[in-house]
Formats: sequence, structure tokens, C-alpha cells
Amino acid sequence: MPPINLLDQPDVRRKLDQCIHCGLCLPACPTYSILNTEMDSPRGRIALMRASADGRIGLDGAFQTHIELCLGCRACETACPSGVQYGTLLEIARTALAREQPRFPALRPTNGSHASSSPASAPGAVAARVLQWAGLTQLMPHRRRLRVLARGLWLYQRLGVSGLVRRLLPHLPPVLATMEAMVPRVDLRYVDESRPAPAVGSRRGKVAFFTGCVQDAFLAGVNAATVRVLQRNGYEVHFPQSQTCCGAAALHSGESDFARDLARRNIDAFAGGDFTAVINNAGGCGATLKEYAHLLKDDPRYADRAQGFVAMVKDINEFLAANLHHPPRGRLQARVTYVDSCHLRHGQKVVQQPRALLTAIPGLELVELRQPDMCCGSAGIYNLLQPELANQVLDNKLADVESTRATIIATANTGCYMQMVYGVQRSGLNATVMHVVELLDRAYANAH
Ligand code: SF4
Ligand code: SF4
Repeated sequence: MPPINLLDQPDVRRKLDQCIHCGLCLPACPTYSILNTEMDSPRGRIALMRASADGRIGLDGAFQTHIELCLGCRACETACPSGVQYGTLLEIARTALAREQPRFPALRPTNGSHASSSPASAPGAVAARVLQWAGLTQLMPHRRRLRVLARGLWLYQRLGVSGLVRRLLPHLPPVLATMEAMVPRVDLRYVDESRPAPAVGSRRGKVAFFTGCVQDAFLAGVNAATVRVLQRNGYEVHFPQSQTCCGAAALHSGESDFARDLARRNIDAFAGGDFTAVINNAGGCGATLKEYAHLLKDDPRYADRAQGFVAMVKDINEFLAANLHHPPRGRLQARVTYVDSCHLRHGQKVVQQPRALLTAIPGLELVELRQPDMCCGSAGIYNLLQPELANQVLDNKLADVESTRATIIATANTGCYMQMVYGVQRSGLNATVMHVVELLDRAYANAH
């Protein structure tokens, strides 16, 4: 039996047909603005999907090239007057690609079993695929392994080995060189998760904290600040132990079955706690957590539970903007610009809330970017897979940041945080990168 063409399904065709070819999304698209080719615009990519659905083109060649070059930032979705669900279409296209050219045979959350990567021609492509496989299956779903890696990197950074490795960078495969340059200064100040963190003052509710995978292991200070700010606003914070990676990286790589497995594990992990909300502090993770109902809509055991879970998921900015019972009183005299996370802005439509929180800090001056809706080039692991284009997108963002003369760059997503740290090093900008909750946390501390 011939394989099913995922793009040639009635509901997918309905979604494709919503595109009226108006082109209003083109100016919002970072890849189109740099490459200036129709096939690297949302309209062009939708045309490729339609051509594949019709059987006029295969999933290799132009289809693969231009679908892989898409950042998945979903700025086109916000710009589209016709309601095209581009993010959903992209996921379907990437799933079709992954099934046609499996990178990772029998991809499943594992506890140590190994799979081999598929053959690829160039050594750089092999390295990228092996790293992608290792990251998705052997690290991201396993918090302990990630923390071991984080401790190793912490030592590597503190022992000064990085200077030697940087001299070797021109000889390393590009994906390894990019990874080395992008690793932020590892922060190991882990929260004690063995018991709930109590509310400070009168208790207003109990929330569960989705700690994330990379965020949890490498940027522990952001999670610690998140917990303290929730506590200060009267929330008891719980840490369900069996939670795992949200599945965003798997989903963006077209590994939707694997992402569904992770979604089921998270729904089980957060069940039965009678929580006011499931809080996360990374825009990319939150957007995926909120997609669980869609991901599991055909799963008879999990469809209803997924809807209940999604109803509880809140980004920290979204939650605090509505529940800032004790605004910070300490001053933080700083000029700050805010770099939107695409998945928070375009995916979750959380736009004003982080700005409201920042302007609630006494002394803080918020300066808007000229193009706040443009991606920074992080886009999950895009900056590792497409470093050249990602760097061009990043340079545009850095020029915008520089024009604000801000000394602090606020973000609300792990990938953006790391990308901006890398960008600051790359450009020599005199700026510090902080999560919105770290700024709030510092303002609270300044009151004492
Ligand atoms: S998701 Fe972003 S990069 Fe991809 S087509 Fe839409 S605007 Fe362009
Ligand atoms: S704005 Fe929407 S309808 Fe117009 S070309 Fe872009 S995706 Fe199609």
C-alpha cells in the first residue's frame, strides 16, 4: 500500500485553501526579508505544501529545502487576515518530511537504548543529525542526564578549557562550533524540589511548576527567580517529579509521535494535584504545552485529559500580570528593551503582559524595539541546524536592540535568552540578558 500523503487529507486541504495568496504575511517573514525569494515566504511555502498534496512535487528537493529553512516563528500567522494556521501546517509538513526520510529509526522516549542515525552525505550533516537525535531522545526527556551535562559544562567553563576549544573552532564541524559559542554561562543554583515551596504571606493558591529541560539544567537561576516571585505573590509552588520535556523540539523536527508520548507523560505527571495553574516560564515550552489538546485529539484515553491540562497551563507573564498581588516596591534604575519570544507572542498571543510586568518595576524604563514582532533567529534548534541564516536574523535583531541603547535585554524564553547571550558576545554589545522574572525578583530584593 502506498504511504499516506499527510498533506493530501481533507482537513489539511481546508487549511491550505484558507490562503488567499494576498501576500500580507510577506513583510512579517524573517526568511523572506533576508532571502527575498517567494519560496522562502509563508505564501511560497504554502504553495509548496499544496503542490505536494496534489502530487505535483515530491517531499525532497525544493520542498525540503524551503520547509527546513522556515524558522517556525509564526509571525505570518499573526499577520494573516485569512486565519491561516501556518504553525499547524508546518508541523504536518515536517512530520511528512520526517516520515519520508526518517532521521531517527523507531524514535521513542528511552532509558538508554540506542538507535543509529540515518546515513547523510556531508560530515556536518551527520554531526547535526547525531546531535539532534542525542538531544531529542537521550538528553531532553531525562532531567538527571541534563543536569550531569550541565555540571560538566560548568566545570569546562570554570577551568578555562573553553579558550583552547575556541582556538580549535575553525576545525570543528559547524554545528559543534555553533553549540560551543551558544552555551550560556551555566547557572547551577537549583531550587530544592523535594518539597513544595511555601507561599509568603497570605496563601492565595497552589500552582505546579513546569521546570523545562534545558532551562532547568542550564539556567537554574531563572527557575529559582520564578519560584521566589510566585511565593512572594502568595502561591505555594509544587514540582511534580515525573514531568519531562514538553516535546517542542521533537514537534519542530517533525517527530510528532515522539512529542505525543512526551505529552502523555506530562499530563500524567501533573494529574490530581488540584492546582490553580501549571506555570511555565519559557514561551516555546508553553506554546507546546498548550498544543497538547490538539496533539492528542484522536487519543481516546487522553483527549479529554489533554483539554483539562491545557486549560491550566499559563505562561508566568500571563499568570503574574493577572495575579500580581504584591507589586515590587524596590527600585531598579535601568533602561530595558524586551525581546519577544515568537512562540509567546505569535503562538500564545501573550504580548502586553510581560510589558505590564516590566513597567510595574519602579525606576525601570522600557524601550520598545522598532520591530518587536521579528524573530531573533533562535527558533528552537534552528540556530544549530541553519547557523548562517540564523546569524543573519540575529544580526538584524541586534541592530534593533542597539538602537534602543538599553543596557538590559529582557526575554521570556530559554532559546531567546541563549540566543541573545550569544548575540551580545558576537556583537560586543554592552548589555545584560535577563528573564522578566529575574528583573522582578531583583526589584523585590532591592526593597530590603
Ligand atoms: S513561520 Fe516565520 S519564517 Fe516561517 S514562513 Fe512564517 S514568518 Fe516566515
Ligand atoms: S497573509 Fe495569509 S492568506 Fe495572505 S498569503 Fe499570507 S498566509 Fe496566505
